[in-house]
Amino acid sequence: MKDIVRKMTRQVRVGHLTIGGGAPVVIQSMLSRPWFDVPGNIAQAKALEAAGCQMVRIALPNAEAAHTLTAVKNAVDMPVVADIHFDYKLALLALEAGADKIRINPGNIGSRQRVAAVAEACQKRGVPIRVGVNSGSLEKDILAKYGASTAEAMVESTQGHLKILEELGFYNTVVALKSPYVKTTLEAYRLASARFDYPLHLGVTEAGTRQFGLVKSAIAIGSLLADGIGDTLRVSLSADPVEEIYAAKTILKAAGLPGYGPAVIACPTCGRTGVDVMGMAEEMERRLAPIEADITVAVMGCAVNGPGEASQADYGMAGGDGKGVIFKKGAVIGSCTEAELMDRLMAVILEDLAL
Ligand code: SF4
Repeated sequence: MKDIVRKMTRQVRVGHLTIGGGAPVVIQSMLSRPWFDVPGNIAQAKALEAAGCQMVRIALPNAEAAHTLTAVKNAVDMPVVADIHFDYKLALLALEAGADKIRINPGNIGSRQRVAAVAEACQKRGVPIRVGVNSGSLEKDILAKYGASTAEAMVESTQGHLKILEELGFYNTVVALKSPYVKTTLEAYRLASARFDYPLHLGVTEAGTRQFGLVKSAIAIGSLLADGIGDTLRVSLSADPVEEIYAAKTILKAAGLPGYGPAVIACPTCGRTGVDVMGMAEEMERRLAPIEADITVAVMGCAVNGPGEASQADYGMAGGDGKGVIFKKGAVIGSCTEAELMDRLMAVILEDLAL
C-alpha cells in the first residue's frame, strides 16, 4: 500500500532537518543515561545515530546538564533537542549550549511571560519549539472544564499555547499531544490535525516494555500515519533507546509509508504448508536488506493458494514437496526446485530493478 496522502503541514527546520510539509517522517529518540554521565550519553547518542535515529532529545534537569548537551551535540551529526520542564531559564541555557530545538511542556513551564522569554530567544536563533502537551500535566482550569484529560482538553491546552506563541509572531513550532492511551492519542492527534497545520510529533507516552509498548505504539502511530497524519515520531519504550529506532522503522514500513525499502510478507502457515516459510521469510529479509526500492515480496507456504493469496505483492515465491513457483503480482512466471527458489526470485527482483 503506497497510496497514503500526507497532510500538508507547515515546514520547520531543526538543524539540517526539515519536519513537516510532506518531508519524510523524522525518527527521533531520547537519551536515557543520567545527565552527569557524559561518556554514557555520547555513546548512546552515537549508537542511536548508527541505528538510524535522525534527531535526539536530552533531558535538562539542571544547569550543569547543559554541558552534557553540548558534549553530545559535538559528538553526533543529528540535531539535539533540549527537554525542559518547569524552569524556563533552563531553556535559555540550552539555547546557549547549542540546542537545535527546545521542547517545553506548557502545562508546567509557568506564566505567559516565561513562555514569551523562551520564544523570543528561540526566534533570535531560528530554533523551533516543540509544544509537548502531556495528558498527565494539563492546566488545572482545563482539567476542571473537561473533568478529565480528554483529547479535546489536550487540544484546547495546545491551542492556548500556540496562541501565545502566535501573538509573539512565533510560528516555528512542532506539536505533540502525548497520552498513555491509544484511543486518546488517536482522538487528540486527529483533532489537532483538523484544527491546525503545525507539524505533528507522534508518540504514545509511557507506552511500556519492548513488546507491549511496541504494539501500543504501532496501533496508535501506525493508524495516524495511515491517515496521513504525523511528521516526526518517537516510539517511547522502557528499553534500550536503540530499540525505539528499530520499532519506529518497522512501524513506518508496516504502515505503508514510502521510502523505507522492501517489505517481506509471509503466510502464517497451515496444514498445507510444504516449505520452511519462517526460515525463508527471514532469509529473504536478510537478502533484501541492501535494496532501497519500496517493493513487497511474499513468501508463501503452498503453490496452490500462495500466488493468489499474495496477489497484491510485487513478487513472491511459494513451494512444497520439493518444488516451487515464482510469481509477480499473483501471476506465476516460473517454476523450479524448492532449493532454487530463493536464488531464482532474487535474480528476478534484481533484474527488474536493474541492480
Ligand atoms: S499460502 Fe498455503 S500454506 Fe500458506 S497459509 Fe495459505 S493455504 Fe496455508
